[in-house]
Amino acid sequence: MYFEMIEDRGAEQVTFCSDPVSGLRAVVAVHSTALGPALGGCRFQPYETELDAVDDVLRLAEGMTYKAALAGLDLGGGKAVILGDPGTDKSERLWRAFGRHIDSLGGRYVTAEDVGTDRADMDMIRRETRWVVGTSPAMGGADDPSPITAVGVHAAMKAAVAHHLDQPGLAGLHVAVQGVGKVGSALCHLLAADGCRLTIGDVNAAAARRVAATVPCEIADPADLLTLACDVLAPCALGGVLDDSGVDRLRARVVCGSANNQLVREDVADLLAKREILYAPDFVVNSGGLIHVAGELLGRDRRWAMDRVEAIGATARHIFEIAEAEAVSTALAAREIAEARIREISTLESIRRPAR
Ligand code: NAD
Repeated sequence: MYFEMIEDRGAEQVTFCSDPVSGLRAVVAVHSTALGPALGGCRFQPYETELDAVDDVLRLAEGMTYKAALAGLDLGGGKAVILGDPGTDKSERLWRAFGRHIDSLGGRYVTAEDVGTDRADMDMIRRETRWVVGTSPAMGGADDPSPITAVGVHAAMKAAVAHHLDQPGLAGLHVAVQGVGKVGSALCHLLAADGCRLTIGDVNAAAARRVAATVPCEIADPADLLTLACDVLAPCALGGVLDDSGVDRLRARVVCGSANNQLVREDVADLLAKREILYAPDFVVNSGGLIHVAGELLGRDRRWAMDRVEAIGATARHIFEIAEAEAVSTALAAREIAEARIREISTLESIRRPAR
C-alpha cells in the first residue's frame, strides 16, 4: 500500500523514524533530489492514522520540489512529519533522536521549521546533524524568514494585479488579508505603504488588534473574509481554504497569499479560472521563505536572497502568460514549468564532469 502511494506521488524515498524511549514517530519523504538535496520543513502534529501522516508528508514533499524548481534553486523537495502533540510531546531526547535519523540520510534531506516546530527545536536538531536550517543566529542560522516571505507575496500580488486588473500598482485596491500572523502582518505593512484599503481577519482577535494598532485597516470576522467583495484575497493563515463551494462564493478578483496548499485539489484552480478569478499559485507566491533558508544552507548573503525573492514577480507573470496562452489553470502551468526545469537540468548528467 505504501509503495503505491510513494509511486503515485513520484517520490524517491520514504523513511520511518522511531525512538520508543522518547516516543518519536516520524516520517521523512524525499520527493526529488534531481536538482539537489531535498529541503523542506518538519511538521509536528497529531494525525488520525499513520496513513494520513504518510499521505500528508508525500503531498507536502512534492510541493517543495515544485517550489524549489520554480524559485530557480539547486534544491529538491522533501518534508518530515512527526506524529504527536507539539504542546506536550517535545523533549531533548526526541529532537536528538530525530536529528540522528536526519543525519543518517547523509544530506539527501535537509530539515527546517514548519507548523508545530520552532527555532529552538532546530537548534536541538543541530546538535546531532548539520542538515538543518532555520537555527538561531548564534548557531549560524538566518533570521526569521517571514518578512522576506511577505516581500515575495507583495511582488507576486503586484504582478497578478498588473496582469489581471491592468493596474500598474496596488494603490487604491481593496485587499483582504486572512490571517495576520508573522507573514500576514508584514504583508499588511507593505500594502498600507502602497495605499491599499485593507480588511483583515484572524481567529486570534489579539493578533488582528495588534496589526490594526499600527496599520490603517478594518477588522472583519475571519469567517466573512472569503466572501468579502474586494480586489485581492490574500490567504495567509492555513491551507485548504478554497474548495468547490468556496470558489462559488468568492467575490475577490485575485487570490494571492502566503498560505501553503490553499486549494483542496489542484483542479480547484480550473474553477477559479472559469470564474475569471486569477489564482497566483501558492508555491510560487510564498517561496521567499524557502529562498531565505536556501541562502543559509548555501552560505549566501541577504542580497542573494532578496534578488531571488524580488524575481518572484517575474516568475508569476510568466506563469500567468503561459496559463493564458495554453488555456490551462495557473496551478497546472506552474507545475508544468517546474517539471520542465527539473527534466532539463537533471538530464545534464549526460555531460560527464571531469574527475576531481
Ligand atoms: P503564523 O502562525 O504566524 O500566522 C498564521 C495566522 O493565521 C495566526 O495569527 C492565526 O491565528 C491565523 N489563523 C489561523 N486560522 C485562521 C482562520 N481560519 N482565519 C483567520 N486567521 C486564521 O504563520 P505564518 O508564519 O505567518 O504563516 C502563514 C501561512 O504562510 C502558513 O500557511 C505558512 O505555512 C505559510 N508560509 C509561511 C512562511 C514563513 O516564512 N513564515 C513561508 C512560506 C509559507
